[in-house]
Amino acid sequence: MKLQLDNVSKRYGTATALDSVSLSVEEGEFFTLVGPSGCGKTTTLRCIAGFESPTEGAVRFDGESMAGVPPEARGVGVVFQNYALFPHLTVGENVAYGLRFTDTPGGNSRDDRVAELLELVDLAGFEDRDPDSLSGGQQQRVALARALAPGPDLLLLDEPMSALDARLRDRLRRQVKHIQSELGVTTVYVTHDQSEALAVSDRVAVLNRGRVEQVGNPREVYHRP
Ligand code: ADP
Ligand code: ADP
Repeated sequence: MKLQLDNVSKRYGTATALDSVSLSVEEGEFFTLVGPSGCGKTTTLRCIAGFESPTEGAVRFDGESMAGVPPEARGVGVVFQNYALFPHLTVGENVAYGLRFTDTPGGNSRDDRVAELLELVDLAGFEDRDPDSLSGGQQQRVALARALAPGPDLLLLDEPMSALDARLRDRLRRQVKHIQSELGVTTVYVTHDQSEALAVSDRVAVLNRGRVEQVGNPREVYHRP
């Protein structure tokens, strides 16, 4: 799906979190928002997901305005930094939670769909485990499986690696990239880490104080040979 932000502004009282942000993300693209803490990355994702309404401007999916369309009707999968798993549910139940608004794609049974998703994130057979018994990287992969469960047209990832150590981060990053290109799902990824943006992105937008400063492929933006 193609995503567009047209002059999106978001104010909280007198504070401006986003100042006329315009972006266009192509079908199947891995697009990264990068910039320092407080520059507006999370607010941008929240406006795309529908958790927030822009004060001004429009979010469009394939040209359609999403104004008034609630988050669960947008066909968006989200993995947010603080969007933890439910500790009282098993891994399989956490993934199945991602199917609560939809039929399983392809008419598969729910259990089959959960098994297929766990396999996709390299956690085959983990259905009955407790989230607490998993490593941080494994937990984020369960969150990814949950987000992918309904077959979203758009995947939003907000600093999904930030709580992990460097080795796990590197591994998860490669897995996420692999899954994304296999599914061809349009993805908006948020990070404050330039090396992460370089490693995974088709294109990058650099945000600063709620404005888009630069957009381009990572090499153009970071002047790497
Ligand atoms: P980032 O994700 O890049 O760290 P955010 O989008 O979280 O940035 O925040 C952008 C700016 O908007 C920050 O100055 C932040 O304090 C402010 N902000 C975000 N959400 C709210 C809110 N709910 N109320 C007031 N200010 C907010
Ligand atoms: P990030 O990890 O992107 O920097 P934060 O941890 O700053 O995000 O913020 C987490 C949540 O708190 C977000 O949903 C954001 O919208 C909200 N938030 C951020 N800044 C403020 C603020 N000044 N007032 C109220 N809510 C805020």
